[in-house]
Amino acid sequence: PGSDPDELLRGLNAQQRAAVVHAGSPLLIVAGAGSGKTRVLTHRIAYLLAARDVTPGQIMAITFTNKAAGEMRERVAGLVGPRGRRMWVSTFHSACVRILRAEHEHAGLKSTFSIYDADDSRRLMQLVARELDLDPKRYPARSLAAQVSNLKNELVDESTFTARASGPAERALAEAYSSYQQRLRQAHALDFDDLIMTTVRLLQTFPDVAEHYHRRFRHILVDEYQDTNHAQYVLIKELVGRSPEAPSDLDDVAASAPELLADGAPLGPAELCVVGDADQSIYAFRGATIRNIMEFERDFPDAETILLEQNYRSTQTILNAANRVIERNSERKPKNLWSDSGPGEKIVGYVADNEHDEADWVAKEIDRLVDDEGYKPADVAVFYRTNAQSRVFEDIFIRFGVPYKVVGGVRFYERKEVRDALAYLRAIANPDDVVSVRRILNTPRRGIGERAEACVDALASKENISFGAALERAGEAVGISSRAVKGIGDFTTIMAEVRQMAATEPPEDVLEAVLARSGYLAELEESDDPQDAGRVENLQELVSVAREYTERIQRAAAAGDADEDAGPDPEIEETPSLAGFLEQVALVADADEIPDDDGEQSGVVTMMTLHTAKGLEFPVVFLTGMEDGVFPHMRSMGDKRELEEERRLAYVGITRARQRLYISRAVTRSAWGQPQYNPESRFVPELPSELIDWKRTADAYTSWTRGGVGRGESAQYRGPSSALTNGPKSQALAGKLGLDPKLVGAASEMRQVPSLSPGDRVNHDRHGLGRVVAVQGSGPRAQAQIDFGDQTMWIVLRHAPIQKL
Ligand code: ATP
Ligand code: MG
Repeated sequence: PGSDPDELLRGLNAQQRAAVVHAGSPLLIVAGAGSGKTRVLTHRIAYLLAARDVTPGQIMAITFTNKAAGEMRERVAGLVGPRGRRMWVSTFHSACVRILRAEHEHAGLKSTFSIYDADDSRRLMQLVARELDLDPKRYPARSLAAQVSNLKNELVDESTFTARASGPAERALAEAYSSYQQRLRQAHALDFDDLIMTTVRLLQTFPDVAEHYHRRFRHILVDEYQDTNHAQYVLIKELVGRSPEAPSDLDDVAASAPELLADGAPLGPAELCVVGDADQSIYAFRGATIRNIMEFERDFPDAETILLEQNYRSTQTILNAANRVIERNSERKPKNLWSDSGPGEKIVGYVADNEHDEADWVAKEIDRLVDDEGYKPADVAVFYRTNAQSRVFEDIFIRFGVPYKVVGGVRFYERKEVRDALAYLRAIANPDDVVSVRRILNTPRRGIGERAEACVDALASKENISFGAALERAGEAVGISSRAVKGIGDFTTIMAEVRQMAATEPPEDVLEAVLARSGYLAELEESDDPQDAGRVENLQELVSVAREYTERIQRAAAAGDADEDAGPDPEIEETPSLAGFLEQVALVADADEIPDDDGEQSGVVTMMTLHTAKGLEFPVVFLTGMEDGVFPHMRSMGDKRELEEERRLAYVGITRARQRLYISRAVTRSAWGQPQYNPESRFVPELPSELIDWKRTADAYTSWTRGGVGRGESAQYRGPSSALTNGPKSQALAGKLGLDPKLVGAASEMRQVPSLSPGDRVNHDRHGLGRVVAVQGSGPRAQAQIDFGDQTMWIVLRHAPIQKL
């Protein structure tokens, strides 16, 4: 299957085809959402195998989520058959873990090193901050960990940073960074950012290791290139390798006579193909930089760029809406996306009383789509800005019987019992893993208190050994109670027993054994707390995850055996192991994993945050919580650059929709148990009003008032009738004071204020000339958001010395 190159090229447009067959120089494909970038990438891989004599082992494809990687592997397997499964199609992190496992000696690591996720890093940083006696108010562990992460994303290691740190804050950070790294080394652990940074350093320090991967990977393909950070960019550069004199000649040789390129012969750089869309860059907060896409041609000389302009995903209405929103961002290259799928349906809008009403409406609308319009629940996605927003939808969906799944959220792997169980496994695989060992040392209780832990810690520093090693010698610790020594003895005995078992048995058996022998499971089973029954189920689920892992590895090994043209591959796991399982879990748990469909034909509604939605598409999309302070997120509202990132997120959300797009917001929404009055999201008026069919507008709430801003002038409907909506602070205050803004509004006196609508030009006595971006409220409560060039602000019009021009 798929061995016919012409077949592969059919169903692609001319530019897509050019991108698939392009050879000999680095290739950048830039294009808007839904233009087939990912499709080009998969077809290119299949084409390399079918038409250019490339073997699966020579290809490394990088995507952003495990889900995307899984899909790409399946799609390629669909095109070329099971041998496609032997390719490295993975996230940056997984690719690095595989390299580090294979090269652990060069990297100075044990092969069983632990991988710390964000929560583990924070715990470790907490230990560090306490040890350094840093004031937790000025230097919260969370913030130290985030800053260290940023430095690593920039490939700034602890000694470099220490050398350049100035001022008390930076010096404190430098100290924390150094001590944190030391602790990681002692624990034989790497945090997520280390995975990339360590691999980069490995390739830079050991030319023979770099050479090995360089020889191996002749094709490197990267999806979502706009979201790469500096460290990832350097990693790609290292893998591609430097350009020798005549790269294209050598590539010809590689293609026609690979045997001439035995070890020792010089090799040209690997062929690099990246795809991306600067307008969809939404991970700046993790150090992603669109510089990488903007300067691709400078980074990789003789690179070629291909633009794709036809969108195959969405209706013209949805595309127009997306284009109009993203067009407001500065410093972007204009794009000319078009679709020939016709205008389609209008966007449907709804203004709800509160978040329950919003969820209620969404649920009813989904019902209607399924009953009357032939959609399946699986066709529908509900997006929101933050995970916490999912709960209300869940409540109502359960009540309405709408089948759904939540992607992300309080994820399976973040639950306490799952983390505890994994900590046990990690401590078995790697006894030096201090964060894991300390997590479960006294869980269930074994009489080992904080004091005993401190004594062991002191012994560890004195003897310069790991915490785990010090546990084995707990009897020598000064000041430790005999009860604690006994508890520690029990613990180390159990762990040693299970560790022995782990050498031969598959991870699911190891997990069951440790849950039983440690008494962890028994404690939950005997508890009468109803939550603990759920915890037991989650642990059962974890055992199933381990079993699935084992089966998957066995299947892959069998597929590998069947694949005759590929020799044995040391970097591909052949037997299930505890380390391999933990590695999979660590990587999956961090990324935005999407559970597989439950196999039912009609499937379930998918709920997820906008960040998770990237790269996906759904026939029907609900964009919910379209409120200033929710989306755009409150945190980003004061900063132009962050606001632009939120706008890109809106662009991502809108462009996920194929046929139907819904937008909704709630006039009040509770936060911290108090109702908040949120103004309409500033992104809503950026959508062309003629494309929206409002099923219910804010008029439902403001009909009791007279006059007001922009009344009847445009589709720009007035915001909630709140006296207190001029900014998040006062909203929170209104909530705290328990005021009903409607009453406050009714009591206040109407006065003449300028009637403004978005786009109007104004002059403000102090701020000068400006342009109205959005308006909110009416009468004395009318406010306008005005862009004065250097700053954008909300102004209460009643008080403002302002004239309409
Ligand atoms: P995003 O920027 O959101 O990641 P993308 O550019 O990667 O989008 P794809 O997901 O590859 O776009 O493609 C969007 C949709 O259009 C998919 O359903 C894909 O199968 C379809 N598509 C792409 N190219 C073609 C084509 N030439 N003919 C038919 N359908 C196509
Ligand atoms: Mg894509």
